[in-house]
Amino acid sequence: MKKVLILGSTGSIGVNALSVIRKFPDRFSVAGLTVNSNISTLSEQIEEFNPEFVVINDQSKAKELAKNLNRKIKIISSENGLVEAAKKYDYDILIGAIVGFAGLSPTLEAIKRGKRIALANKETLVVAGEIVTRLVAENSAEIIPVDSEHSAIYQCLVGENLNEVEKLILTASGGPFLNKEKSFFDNATVNEALNHPNWKMGSKITIDSATMMNKGLEVIEAHWLFGLPVDKISVVIHPQSIIHSMVQFVDGSIKAQLGLPDMKLPIQYALTFPERLSNDFERTNLPLINNLTFFEPDFNKFECLKLAYQALNTGGTSPCILNAANEIAVEKFLNGDIKFSEIPKMINKALDKVENHSNPDIETIIECDKLTREFVNNLN
Ligand code: NAD
Ligand code: MG
Repeated sequence: MKKVLILGSTGSIGVNALSVIRKFPDRFSVAGLTVNSNISTLSEQIEEFNPEFVVINDQSKAKELAKNLNRKIKIISSENGLVEAAKKYDYDILIGAIVGFAGLSPTLEAIKRGKRIALANKETLVVAGEIVTRLVAENSAEIIPVDSEHSAIYQCLVGENLNEVEKLILTASGGPFLNKEKSFFDNATVNEALNHPNWKMGSKITIDSATMMNKGLEVIEAHWLFGLPVDKISVVIHPQSIIHSMVQFVDGSIKAQLGLPDMKLPIQYALTFPERLSNDFERTNLPLINNLTFFEPDFNKFECLKLAYQALNTGGTSPCILNAANEIAVEKFLNGDIKFSEIPKMINKALDKVENHSNPDIETIIECDKLTREFVNNLN
């Protein structure tokens, strides 16, 4: 029996993770759940999964929950609650399903304890990939990717030799604006950008899919997860999102992993690897899908993808600057404060003006994240 701690249990990945856990009650139990503020969903999750502890970021919500809860569980609500939970409490697997930079510190604590991390929070690897991968090796921890592309590549690489990989081929749906002209980006509305054709996800990653920053972050994520240079990581547009990604080997052979666009499968794989467990999730009906297509991405139209490659090439704190600027720009767009077309412009300015540090330690990365947020918040 493995005990699972879910960071971000009320989000899109968190809820899917609990759907997987629900199917295997003799394999997994819930050690802890953490949320930002959504205590009504959390209450239902506590009722069903009976965790030993919960972390609630919002202190007034934590008090409200404590008043109304009719069972005894530990409720943590301090500034450092997530880190405390990851550092001190008892669990075997951490599911990193928080969005953004906030996922970094608790994930590092789990790594230092040699835990398995089922990692959805790609931002952790984007901002601190070098430190994260070094600590994973030093502490015999494990990162099994939950991101569907990286799970696909991970599965394609089982039994293979990394030296024989010619390139990774990350597939991208292209998002809701794949077939729009670039001029449309000045007037794209929040609702249009949130209307993803294939995936139902949290709002930040959905906007990242519309700008294709999501694929850019995934290129950086793949670089650290699989230890391959940037020129061996490519992106292809595949609007159906059935092939989740591919690996091309030195003999020209390409392996792909296919499935429906449903995060439950990669989440389950990350929990049970190296085993596969039988489930009753919907199966891929290939004749029904009928058509799989592929295109080159348009780097000119989707500048965020280009900026991500550029940040990875520059190295140092550039990916951290890229990520922080993107988080703030996306928040501004979601709040109606800036146009969709301004997102890459703000990120570009931050990459240009915020000082880059090579070989950063964690303190430098935390400082860089903070400075970049201030910089972007003070633009226009
Ligand atoms: P979401 O917005 O649906 O959920 C985020 C969760 O994190 C919520 O439970 C929220 O309460 C919690 N949270 C947010 N900020 C927090 C903070 N500061 N402190 C504590 N908790 C906080 O997001 P999501 O779509 O589930 O995505 C989560 C992560 O997984 C992201 O990094 C995303 O890029 C990645 N991911 C998501 C999908 C997907 O299908 N949704 C696919 C691949 C990767
Ligand atoms: Mg993905």
